[in-house]
Amino acid sequence: MSFRRGACPALSAPMQTGDGLLVRLATAGETLSPASVRALCGAARRRGNGLVEITARGNFQIRGLTEESAAALAGDIAAMALGLRDGVPVETNPLAGLDTSATANAAPLAAALRRAIDASDLRQRLAPKVSVVVDGGGTTPLANVAADIRLDAVSAAGWQVSIGGDLQTAQRLGVCDTSAAPQLVLDLLEQVSAHGLEARGRDLDARPISSLVGERSALRPLLRKTARVGSREHPASDEPIALTDGRFALRIALPFGSIEAGELIAFLDRVGEIVELRFAPGRAAVLLCKSGTEALRLRDLADRAGLVISANDPRARIFACPGTQGCASGLIPAREIAREVAGSLPDEVASLHISGCAKGCAHPTTAALTVVGTGSGAELVENGTARQNGEHIGKGDIARRLASLMAARTPGNAQGRTARTFEQASAGD
Ligand code: SF4
Repeated sequence: MSFRRGACPALSAPMQTGDGLLVRLATAGETLSPASVRALCGAARRRGNGLVEITARGNFQIRGLTEESAAALAGDIAAMALGLRDGVPVETNPLAGLDTSATANAAPLAAALRRAIDASDLRQRLAPKVSVVVDGGGTTPLANVAADIRLDAVSAAGWQVSIGGDLQTAQRLGVCDTSAAPQLVLDLLEQVSAHGLEARGRDLDARPISSLVGERSALRPLLRKTARVGSREHPASDEPIALTDGRFALRIALPFGSIEAGELIAFLDRVGEIVELRFAPGRAAVLLCKSGTEALRLRDLADRAGLVISANDPRARIFACPGTQGCASGLIPAREIAREVAGSLPDEVASLHISGCAKGCAHPTTAALTVVGTGSGAELVENGTARQNGEHIGKGDIARRLASLMAARTPGNAQGRTARTFEQASAGD
């Protein structure tokens, strides 16, 4: 077993966490039946601590395993024959090929890339977390999903190529046609590999790389008007989305990315076998339904099950790990605090991360507000990550301080004005 930090905790290499071993299954974008997901949940209850998660990238996590139970879980999952891919991740939109509003159908290109990468020996020469994103845009964009190499559709057959980041932060190299993309991605992965076993796309320097791979792969300069500007991803869809094959998609999300396996089984029991299911970025799942009426019925069921069914649900903007309630490294009850503040999270706070400790598992990147558990209480970090230092909050003051902050950021709130005045006064002390 590998416990290398930063490694992807795949079935063959579970990762040590504060609450035992964690296994992450590469489910993003794969089509699964409700029966398969129920079977996964059953295995999580038998082998782990019963808590399952959908990650920010749309992968499925099982927590609280021991070495023995992780080995047994591997046997359980092999017997399920889910057909999950085990190579360099090539992630694409969960509705690729079905989305009427997509700029391009990313599915055939993603499949061609997987074949090309699998036929090479790159997997052995790349860091475990190296990934490729192929984003065709539309209702399920991948703008916020970071990748080592990105292909973002600028037309039906034209792709903006960039390295090391999400759509906003990645370094743009140029534009290529669909036919040239597989060789270009192979060339870029070779360049990442040449920087060593731990190298990532962000380690490459865009300018020399552009001319190096551009000569072989017909990479054209990026014109400003073709540059792709991403739309914000919403984990839940409010209304069913009509698909190209006559079906309807419903996007739902797990509150804070996590649920008891038994609760998910109970929901899927009520759903029945009439849908297909795909896990999606944003800790979400897409249910593919035969009709809009069916999708609305499932939306009601999801709502009653406490799942996130609306893009306006504040829980979609809160990230929280189990904290003291499921992780030995936890210093605060992160999810309990998250549940308490969810109802008062104002629209003005784009994201709130409550982390049991400085590792920041639930949201490794920047959040508008981050509360990090420490030995003496918590730290409050603005526009930063759980690894940064911020304002100290005493052990018994976390809920009060957060309530005051939420009120201060709620426009037109008298209490908010009072709190803001108090904060300003405090800042001036
Ligand atoms: S961030 Fe949360 S889940 Fe991760 S180690 Fe710390 S307490 Fe555990």
